Amino acid sequence: MSRFLSSRYEDLEPYVPGEQPQDQKYVKLNTNESPFPPAPNAIAKAAEAAEKLQLYSDPDCRALAEKLAAHLSEENGIPLTRDNVIITNGSDEVLNFAFMAFCSGETPAVFPDITYGFYPVFADMNGVPYREIPLDENLQIVPSDYSGVGGTLFIANPNAHTGVALSRNEIEEIIAANPENLVVVDEAYVDFGAESCLPLLGKYDNLLIVQTFSKSRSLAGARLGFGAASAEIIRDLNTIRFSTNPYNINSMTMAAGIGVLEEDEYTRRNCREIIVNRRYVQEQLNAMGFELTDSTANFVFMKHPQVDGNRIYEEMKRRGVLIRHFTKERMAQYNRVTIGSREQMDIFLTVLREIIEE
Ligand code: PMP
Repeated sequence: MSRFLSSRYEDLEPYVPGEQPQDQKYVKLNTNESPFPPAPNAIAKAAEAAEKLQLYSDPDCRALAEKLAAHLSEENGIPLTRDNVIITNGSDEVLNFAFMAFCSGETPAVFPDITYGFYPVFADMNGVPYREIPLDENLQIVPSDYSGVGGTLFIANPNAHTGVALSRNEIEEIIAANPENLVVVDEAYVDFGAESCLPLLGKYDNLLIVQTFSKSRSLAGARLGFGAASAEIIRDLNTIRFSTNPYNINSMTMAAGIGVLEEDEYTRRNCREIIVNRRYVQEQLNAMGFELTDSTANFVFMKHPQVDGNRIYEEMKRRGVLIRHFTKERMAQYNRVTIGSREQMDIFLTVLREIIEE
């Protein structure tokens, strides 16, 4: 720490992202990226946009915001316009904006004790208190634990890192039970088999839905996410955005996002393939004696009754397969494994079999 660091940040413990090794080639199943390249149209459009990089990007993200609003309206049967969406540099950015805009000393952040590890960091970073509500003994969110929480609620659905999803009805129960507070539903993994709460936007004004282009839409490296909500909520978030970085989306990413939306069938096909591969991996892991949460995300969360979770992680890494291990209590025996291509999953299963048979 330099002697110049503001005392506000002296104790800040930054978020630790999953490893992105640049040296060795791993079968990389640690950060829930897509095994499929971006849609061809997205690549072509980004390359075209590169020719105009001497110009600033559109701070209103107009073309993408309009396209996205039309796409979401059609998919969910709700009338959204570009005033109902904010486009951000990954969904992490809109989540951070939500902590900045909607949490304070009087309005703490509230989230489950096991969930996306960035939530407590965003809270600390913004100097707001937070309260964690424990998952039950089966690592499930119990909706009735979330009535009248008295703060801004953040729920990842499906939840990180368990992959377990609540139904839309269960989330609706939570939204209805917190009319005085905003409920942020982080749908980073929703496209792999869970129900989106986007259709509820017409019915509730205390709802902010967050999604990303990093997973099902194969654009993790482009950094693209969005929030969808009432025009008032989006205006508040834009106040924060324009006060931090109005050019938060670069022109190539904007163009790539449009390309992805124009090739929606490509995204859908990839999701179907991930779901098939997940079922295959779940069956194989069950047969090997692993305990799994009921994941509907593009990852599984697994533990073995006899073999130590950290040992599995270390041994897999030594043999060239990267998975994610967490040390937090209650998770320390688990590993999270991204569902990739069938070929990647066969390598993963072969190496894992070797380790547990040793
Ligand atoms: N929410 C959840 C639950 C996540 O797991 C992630 C990915 N780490 C994000 C949000 C952020 O993803 P991105 O910033 O790439 O959109």
